[in-house]
Amino acid sequence: MTETYDVIIIGAGPAGLTAGLYSGRARLKTLILEKATFGGQAATTDLIENYPGFPEGVGGFQLMELMKQQAVEFGAELREIAPVATIEVEGENHIIRTEDDSFTAKAIIIASGSEPKALGIPGEEELRGRGVSYCATCDGAFYRDKVVAVIGGGNSAVEEAIFLTRFASKVYIVHRRDELRADKILQERAAANDKVEVLWDSHLKKILGTGKVEEIVLENKNTGERSSRPVDGVFFYIGTVPNTVFCGGILDMDSRDFIITDERLQTSVPGIFAAGDCRANLLKQVAVAVGEGALAAVEAERYIEEV
Ligand code: NAP
Repeated sequence: MTETYDVIIIGAGPAGLTAGLYSGRARLKTLILEKATFGGQAATTDLIENYPGFPEGVGGFQLMELMKQQAVEFGAELREIAPVATIEVEGENHIIRTEDDSFTAKAIIIASGSEPKALGIPGEEELRGRGVSYCATCDGAFYRDKVVAVIGGGNSAVEEAIFLTRFASKVYIVHRRDELRADKILQERAAANDKVEVLWDSHLKKILGTGKVEEIVLENKNTGERSSRPVDGVFFYIGTVPNTVFCGGILDMDSRDFIITDERLQTSVPGIFAAGDCRANLLKQVAVAVGEGALAAVEAERYIEEV
């Protein structure tokens, strides 16, 4: 049997939970669907320092727990489900199907976020969970007094490299250029941390190890010279891919599969909105996702009133 709602939000990260809060307060029958654990990538971030209102920073999990409580408090229903398989339009209704369930809504807000990108080098998949990780907050504590490498030079890589120095005796940042992309404040902290060493102009070519990570093989971008380092863990932070596979062929997306919307966050299909990291926006931040979640909910309410 298909359950019917006014608004269904796909994804319970900062954008989805904020959309749920606003839709709940608008007294719309609201359901938030989540395929993994609530909170999205923000919930796996140790400390968020640039979300306003928390001058000391706030734990990612703690912030997302508060957002979840607030959305539920104002009437949004939260449900863990199998991944969304398809969305379809039938007249004024929008149908969401998973392997097990189907739901109908007058409006849908897609806030499905993104997930870490894999590099696709030898050893990465084979040693995943045996030294290869995409989440320092989840796995960092296993590396007490060990040596780890963080791949990437953006905010995530540098932030998580600094986090890993709490446990590891040494943290290499392997970056493909001679300049980090991360915010200056993070660059300064990494430079001031004795445990962090940046390996510049370096491409990670393969990860070696029998049953667990033992060594990384690097190639210098300028000279082509190969070198290796013994390490116990490799953490990948080379960017993210949007969770939009179920939108293929239905919504307009950019060349990297981020959802394209107008300024009211409506997608190419009327009544379907997108917010946060899954959207083709300019800045991937919790503060931005929250603002977009609020706007998408208000626009979904307006859409429902007008149809
Ligand atoms: P990102 O900003 O896209 O950075 C990805 C990094 O990985 C870049 O340094 C990039 O190198 C490198 N890279 C990409 N593909 C690679 C490859 N094939 N081989 C080797 N290196 C590769 O991704 P992110 O750090 O995951 O962050 C995602 C978004 O969330 C960003 O918008 C970021 O600002 C935001 N974020 C913000 C915060 C914060 O504000 N505190 C924290 C975390 C994330 P190049 O520099 O050479 O391109």
